[in-house]
Amino acid sequence: MKQLTLLGLAFLATVQLFAGDELSKRFAADASRMLSWTRDDKGCYNLIADFTDHYPRRISGSENLEKGLDWLIDKMTQEGWNVKTQPVMVPNWKRGKESLEMTQPMSRPMQFCALGGSIGTNGKPLTAGVLVVKSYDELKQRKAEVPGKIVVYNVPFTTYGETVNYRYNGPSAAAELGAVATLMRSVGPYGIQTVHTGGMGYKDGVPKIPCGAITIEDALLMQRMQDRGETMQLTLSMEAKWLPDAPSRNVIIEIPGSELPNEVVVMGGHIDSWDIGTGAMDDAGGCIVAWRALYMMNELGMRPKRTIRVCFWTNEENGLRGGEAYAKLTANEKHVLAIESDAGVFAPTGFNTDAKGKDREAIEDIGKLLAPVHANNITEGGGGADIGPLKAYGAVMAGLEVQGDRYFWYHHTDGDTVDKLKEHEVNDCTYAMALLAWCYANK
Ligand SMILES: [Zn+2]
Repeated sequence: MKQLTLLGLAFLATVQLFAGDELSKRFAADASRMLSWTRDDKGCYNLIADFTDHYPRRISGSENLEKGLDWLIDKMTQEGWNVKTQPVMVPNWKRGKESLEMTQPMSRPMQFCALGGSIGTNGKPLTAGVLVVKSYDELKQRKAEVPGKIVVYNVPFTTYGETVNYRYNGPSAAAELGAVATLMRSVGPYGIQTVHTGGMGYKDGVPKIPCGAITIEDALLMQRMQDRGETMQLTLSMEAKWLPDAPSRNVIIEIPGSELPNEVVVMGGHIDSWDIGTGAMDDAGGCIVAWRALYMMNELGMRPKRTIRVCFWTNEENGLRGGEAYAKLTANEKHVLAIESDAGVFAPTGFNTDAKGKDREAIEDIGKLLAPVHANNITEGGGGADIGPLKAYGAVMAGLEVQGDRYFWYHHTDGDTVDKLKEHEVNDCTYAMALLAWCYANK
């Protein structure tokens, strides 16, 4: 009996081992074709450069975003795609002119940028004293000093997810205690007098106050001044304002499935960016590698069983309206997998996914074919913001993971430009996206 059980277990283990290798064996030849194509590709990096050089600062509601979309649609059409668009109304926030100056204890201009969504200073400069705090706890401890002040959040970067809470919620937390404006130490691990913008939100029922970002260096300077007992005064001018929602679009191309056209693997990124920098890593690169992955399949004559679609979602940065509209407008289809690249197209390391059971086994098995580009690390995660709304419709989520240590140096700054990317890493991202989409669409 004991021996039989052991034999049985050994048999089962063999079957499982075989089953666990099935997809990676079946698609090994496709993988090596795609790998050699992407390794030699001279087009993808240049597309990212060409697009972001000409259409930087693609914030929702901007002419740059819409003209950039026209340019992309044109290029895709020239390649032979039947390009589809989905109309989306997007929030329309304008930065306008802005400046920050220290007026006491000395006169000194400071690098500054409004946080996306902030109100302005109402047509006139705002001059006030300063309170520097390192945390919400310190803000509470010093609440008697807050009224009438500009609160500076000198919060050291830990992780993006953790530190960004201050950027998003800090303005209302200080306004509740009587602050007249807030300045956020730029959210990033490193800076060279760099300011990082990003979204913020006002809490209902709390007065709205202007808010912006300053450099790490200036946050530390003001901390030292406060610690020495010096009295500071700043003058802030901001024209930031909201306009009525504006029209934008999601852009879609696809290779229809030969057997199950109503079942879809969608991949892509968001095509809008902030109004600072060129958004080459956040997230034109993510969009363009997905496009290139589909282009390659077409060039290689690969016809998937299920539809493989590329979507450039609009308005991720300050609204997510593109991702939400996409999920609603495609509700009649079955999305089996949604893949997002929104962490910069640096050297890929693998995919995060929320897949469970058989879906997860499939992704882990397919992942073995990513070993040649060292992208075979499959981890737990939620994919990405734009694909998030598809989760409610049953799609499995996957997000491209990369060696992202440098990503937050440049994130939402004027330094987000194509020169930070490397062609062979971009091409490896194309391979990773193409491989996962192709194998999953044919499994
Ligand atoms: Zn992004």
